[in-house]
Amino acid sequence: MADQDTLHRRGLMFILSSPSGAGKTTISRMLLEADDEIRLSVSVTTRPKRPGEIDGVHYHFVDDAAFDRMIEEDDFYEWAPVFGYRYGTPKGHIRAGLKEGQDFLFDIDWQGTQQLYQKDEQDVVRVFILPPSLDELHRRLKDRGTDSKDVIDGRMERARAEISHWDGYDYVVVNDDVQVCFEKVRSILHAERMKRARQTGLIGFVRELMS
Ligand code: 5GP
Repeated sequence: MADQDTLHRRGLMFILSSPSGAGKTTISRMLLEADDEIRLSVSVTTRPKRPGEIDGVHYHFVDDAAFDRMIEEDDFYEWAPVFGYRYGTPKGHIRAGLKEGQDFLFDIDWQGTQQLYQKDEQDVVRVFILPPSLDELHRRLKDRGTDSKDVIDGRMERARAEISHWDGYDYVVVNDDVQVCFEKVRSILHAERMKRARQTGLIGFVRELMS
């Protein structure tokens, strides 16, 4: 019998976007813990490291000159300015990984999502996470206790702008319960893996069944 998981399949680029505070980071972490087959694409950023962040794990932290060099050398799949800093997806091992069936999780904004989709439509799955309401989003940002009122107001402003790009996504999930939201996102991943177009490894098996 053919075991779907051991047969070759092209990897997919699973993109999670949301306004900050909608729970995307938590959902990403839960997905990475629950699923051995997906790996985080670690972005490069010029933003300073926050307390608790580790270079190479959360981001590759670089200065402006290093970021410029990477642009010149065409090292990015995509990059975009966000909140006054620059963020980019390094090409690195991604292309080769996809070929070998490795799935990658991307925690990137709508601009990066558009660029990845334009470059590689067939491998990209775009998921947008919405907060249950703007009041709830505001409460979550305040409860974090890490940002000043001005920063929170700025994030709320940006949240509205980010939400306006929801029509550039394949799936939209409202996060009013983190566990339920996670299960929904996970089921999207599972279903996408089984798409016929991705299951080129099954061709031989199906031919056998038909013979
Ligand atoms: P933060 O600084 O809070 O970690 O991230 C700020 C925003 O930058 C988030 O919306 C996140 O999705 C986005 N972001 C992180 N990495 C990348 C990247 O490589 N490319 C793009 N386009 N956006 C990114």
